Amino acid sequence: MNMSVVPVDVAYSGQLTRSVCDALSETYQGIKCKAEGKSISGQTIPVLSIGEGEKEVFFAASFHANEWITTPLVLKFAEDYARAIKDNTEISGRRAAELFHAVRLFVLPMVNPDGVDLVNGFLQGVLRENASYIAEQYPNVPFPEGWKANLLGTDLNLNFPAGWRLARRMKFAAGFTTPAPRDFVGFAPLSAPEARVVYDFTLRRDFSMILAFHTQGNIIYWKYDDYEPPMSRHIAQILSEASSYPLELTPAFSSQAGYKDWFIKNYDRPGYTVECGIGKNPLPIRDFWNIYRAVLPLMAAALDSAAKLL
Ligand SMILES: [Zn+2]
Repeated sequence: MNMSVVPVDVAYSGQLTRSVCDALSETYQGIKCKAEGKSISGQTIPVLSIGEGEKEVFFAASFHANEWITTPLVLKFAEDYARAIKDNTEISGRRAAELFHAVRLFVLPMVNPDGVDLVNGFLQGVLRENASYIAEQYPNVPFPEGWKANLLGTDLNLNFPAGWRLARRMKFAAGFTTPAPRDFVGFAPLSAPEARVVYDFTLRRDFSMILAFHTQGNIIYWKYDDYEPPMSRHIAQILSEASSYPLELTPAFSSQAGYKDWFIKNYDRPGYTVECGIGKNPLPIRDFWNIYRAVLPLMAAALDSAAKLL
């Protein structure tokens, strides 16, 4: 069976993401799918799991609405990995069955389904009007293609309890003082339900490592403040080599209150933000294969590193 369940040539929506997750779990015995919570508009947020190992690894994508190409990236990897397990072959040079037994991978393909629906034109009526009203307060941000936030104008990667007050000070100083298409930190840490879903899910699991997928820049952010969790530099170098994405320190302006920031601070374990691809967000879906060529080996290397090093 070489049919692909994951389309990589269409605009994604929350609904398509749920359908693809269902199809993956029906097609591949190795993939399980479970709803883990809901977005503002009531869309369920599915999480896939693959593997039965002791080490848990988490991939999360589409925190930011106009970075939705990260959703097919992680879904395609889930499919390629599951197929390699089924066919007893390799994924990016590693025996899939060995990874399957050593690691349990969780994939949350779309943290922000409402925002993605807005950017891709799948949202109508009062929900779209409300977002458009928020956008009018920030005329410098193109609408809807500049939209990163959830539907109520909170930037989900600025809503985590790690330096949130500092993030607020910086973003307020830059003018993002009210719900906005991007860069509004929210009314309190975890005030956005989608951030809360990721947070609660993380607390319920025992992740050895997390990777948050964003666009763009072809770089990997691997640090939070002065934290340097055991093995985090070494694994960062492995991920960098696998993808040819250089390692960078997060620019000060976006160095606080992100998911990987909170994960590193709370657990002292490796957490990475991978900025996939290069260009202007939203990156066009025709960039998919070029980006996947770099991040497939990175994702496989992450599993391998969890199996061997953590
Ligand atoms: Zn982002």
